[in-house]
Amino acid sequence: MAYQAEYIWIDGNEPTPLLRSKTKIIKDEVTTLPIWGFDGSSTNQADGAHSDCVLKPIFSCPDPIRGGANVLVLCEVLLAADMKPHATNTRAGLEKTYKKYAKQGMIFGIEQEYTMLKLDRTPLGFPDNGFPAAQGPYYCGVGAGRVVGREIIEEHTQACIDAGLLIEGTNAEVMPGQWEFQIGAADPLTVSDHLYVARWLLHRIAEDYDVIISFDAKPVKGDWNGAGAHTNFSTAAMREGYTAIEQACVAIGKKIEHHVKGYGHDIESRLTGNHETAPYNKFSYGVSNRGASIRIPWQVAKDAKGYAEDRRPNANADPYTVTRLITDTVCSAAS
Ligand code: ADP
Ligand code: MN
Ligand code: MN
Ligand code: MN
Repeated sequence: MAYQAEYIWIDGNEPTPLLRSKTKIIKDEVTTLPIWGFDGSSTNQADGAHSDCVLKPIFSCPDPIRGGANVLVLCEVLLAADMKPHATNTRAGLEKTYKKYAKQGMIFGIEQEYTMLKLDRTPLGFPDNGFPAAQGPYYCGVGAGRVVGREIIEEHTQACIDAGLLIEGTNAEVMPGQWEFQIGAADPLTVSDHLYVARWLLHRIAEDYDVIISFDAKPVKGDWNGAGAHTNFSTAAMREGYTAIEQACVAIGKKIEHHVKGYGHDIESRLTGNHETAPYNKFSYGVSNRGASIRIPWQVAKDAKGYAEDRRPNANADPYTVTRLITDTVCSAAS
């Protein structure tokens, strides 16, 4: 029987790209997911006169929402003229870097934070006028008045499991309406592909509840935590010894601006030095330090091997770009 394939791609919206998708009916006799196209002039990826862009499937998984034989298909965007990667296709750049340093065995785990908003764009759990009680009881909280939106988390987590994504866990965050899920640990292409499909599923599921999912870095100004995408990473050498972990931190610390520029829009509003962040224009690393740019977890220091956590990437960061920057900086310094 024919089935539905939801083709998902990353658009050209600025300053932060959006996810788009459309449905293709795949007939019985078709054995590989075909290349497809879309109107790039409607997604800020082409002008009207040369509007065709190409969708090339790169990752597919069961569609946990439609069920049955239906699938989700993450695509990269190519130019119709020569089938080369579109300027918005950051996956292509990561693929090159990943292949160059594949021998170093870099793997990532990404903690995706996000904020649920009502249709008027105030956070879920905030009163119509004003603010809820100050931060404190919400992180990993339980009970009405402390936690909102759990029905969406439950549905999203099960959907990620049913789709076969590498979801690792979830938790309520420090600001009401803010949550986190983690994806990993895997090579940078896999972790980023899975993260994008997980983001799409979150938008799609929240749609049924009239809830907006925001990946804004600082959705509420003032004394409220921003939303990040802590990026945990290790090479094979880091998983074997502490020197490689320190060398990685030192290498990253030499390229502050180069990294921060690729860590997501409005990072200056989030990385202020307050709310468990380090200032965006300074670099520090330390064991257990949630006020450092890079944290080495205490267990890692104790075992003298493991991984490090770059706490700077925003919730709205592009994982293809973030993992490319870290892979390039860490692996080029080690080789
Ligand atoms: P915390 O909230 O304390 O910072 P989490 O439990 O939310 O930590 O996330 C830890 C992340 O670290 C997970 O995404 C996991 O995949 C990742 N991780 C664990 N070990 C490694 C490793 N050796 N290399 C890369 N990432 C790792
Ligand atoms: Mn976490
Ligand atoms: Mn968190
Ligand atoms: Mn973290």
